[in-house]
Amino acid sequence: MNRAEQLERLRAHSGPWDLLVIGGGATGVGCALDAAARGFQVALIEQHDFGKGTSSRSTKLVHGGVRYLEQGNVALVMEALKERGILRENAPHLVGDLAFVVPNYEWWESPFYGVGLRLYDLLAGKYGFGASKNLSKEETLQRLPTLKQDGLRGGVVYYDGQFDDSRLLIHLAMTATEQGAAMVNYCSAQGLLKTADGMVRGALVRDEETGNGFEIEARVVINATGCFSDGVRRMADESVAPMVAPSQGIHLVFDASFLKGDSAIMVPHTSDGRVMFAIPWHGHTLVGTTDTAISQVSLEPVPMDQEIQFILETSALYLDKPPSRTDILSSWAGIRPLVKAAGGGSTASLSRDHSIHIDPSGLLTIAGGKWTTYRHMAEDCVDQAIVLAGLDDRPCVTRRLRIHGYHHYASKFGHLQVYGSDAIPIQEMARNHPDRGVQLHPDLPYLESEVIWAARWEMARTVEDILARRTRALLLNARAALAMAPRVAELLAGELGLDPAWQTAQVAAFTAVAKRYLPE
Ligand SMILES: Cc1cc2nc3c(=O)[nH]c(=O)nc-3n(C[C@H](O)[C@H](O)[C@H](O)COP(=O)(O)OP(=O)(O)OC[C@H]3O[C@@H](n4cnc5c(N)ncnc54)[C@H](O)[C@@H]3O)c2cc1C
Repeated sequence: MNRAEQLERLRAHSGPWDLLVIGGGATGVGCALDAAARGFQVALIEQHDFGKGTSSRSTKLVHGGVRYLEQGNVALVMEALKERGILRENAPHLVGDLAFVVPNYEWWESPFYGVGLRLYDLLAGKYGFGASKNLSKEETLQRLPTLKQDGLRGGVVYYDGQFDDSRLLIHLAMTATEQGAAMVNYCSAQGLLKTADGMVRGALVRDEETGNGFEIEARVVINATGCFSDGVRRMADESVAPMVAPSQGIHLVFDASFLKGDSAIMVPHTSDGRVMFAIPWHGHTLVGTTDTAISQVSLEPVPMDQEIQFILETSALYLDKPPSRTDILSSWAGIRPLVKAAGGGSTASLSRDHSIHIDPSGLLTIAGGKWTTYRHMAEDCVDQAIVLAGLDDRPCVTRRLRIHGYHHYASKFGHLQVYGSDAIPIQEMARNHPDRGVQLHPDLPYLESEVIWAARWEMARTVEDILARRTRALLLNARAALAMAPRVAELLAGELGLDPAWQTAQVAAFTAVAKRYLPE
């Protein structure tokens, strides 16, 4: 993915595109990939970097959602379990199995959760990841040696999927370009173009790197801007009623000593009636999340003090060594683009189903859903777009479409597993140029060759792109990421042909963002 080439394709295209997608998160990139794979001419623009929004800030679970089963949403769970299986088939280098243990401290919990999780297994059918089973106290502690032992009776283990969200997104974007889509980051929709009779026919776009504006025409425009959806809808019609109820969720990251072993903890009922996870991720412990209704959306939301406190207090109920504020290596927030319920209610009770909405202007908005179901959401959305734009009725082909980097034995690449088959040229680069094999920070495994690779092939444009989304340094250890920033800026400047002043500005910009990941 080369930005200059992709941008030129956008600008030089003659006549309207079949589809223009606004928004480069899981939903938008999923739609672009689906439509390009059906043979349509597709353009996608993202105002910041791919995944800057919610899609790099998830709990990293590819799951059916045990909680939705409890809410009685069996259809959503079945759909998500099927998509979980499909995703593991198509991107085995990025989606793995993970054992989750529900610890039991009351006599009724083992039979209660045991039965519920058996139903979860059943709903997965042939897409199952492994059978759940009840565990004795000893078996539970074998899996979770750092679990609080006081009053522990046993546990129930079940299996779900885990992934690296922004890495999957980058590989989806690469797959979409391979299928012919034109995908550009740092390009925002500033307004919508309309025909004389008021129908949306494209967007007025700004290249955020140069400030240049231009127009993109399309037969149908898909608004996949997550929690920003209503803002884009208002570009077509100021008077539309909002459809998104944004809700913030946060995560705290600690070192691996807090959760020893290879299993995750699933707490089915926190004091606020939600579920909470503590999961091993990239050699660290990731704990989350919360569900806090918010009124303002932002690209860089900040964890609230009471959310941090809530996660620390809940962790202390289950972990032998309770984490404190000073143990936090990174804390970050994401915003769920939940679709409003007709009668109001809390955001925790709002459906995680996706919603497709067509405004009278013909603007098609897709919002809600889950990362896990992005493929199915895209299929639904493109089916609708075909009807709306009068395009040829071509069937969806993503069910069996392998994602860029597809590799069955990628675990042999160590931390480079997330690149799948691209790990081979990255390793070669490190071998052929010894400097490129240098680790950027002693506490994180990332190599200089990964920076070069991201700049050349993954459309990384800034220090933040590299440290937050191509590698996950910022989300794992914000202080280490800060220390890595100057060298990353230097390497990136070398690749992009930029000067020392650019490097200084990049380090300053990254420092301002990274400070938000370190609670005071
Ligand atoms: C805390 C939390 C935990 C979660 N955990 C999980 C999980 O474990 N598993 C799971 O399956 N799901 C999970 N989800 C849900 C999942 O992350 C989201 O459903 C999904 O990422 C939403 O993707 P999106 O593309 O719709 O939105 P986004 O990722 O936010 O993408 C929208 C994009 O649109 C861009 N944009 C906005 N306006 C414009 C414009 N004018 N021009 C161009 N671009 C624009 C934004 O910059 C943004 O990148 C979680 C969500 C949260 C908040």
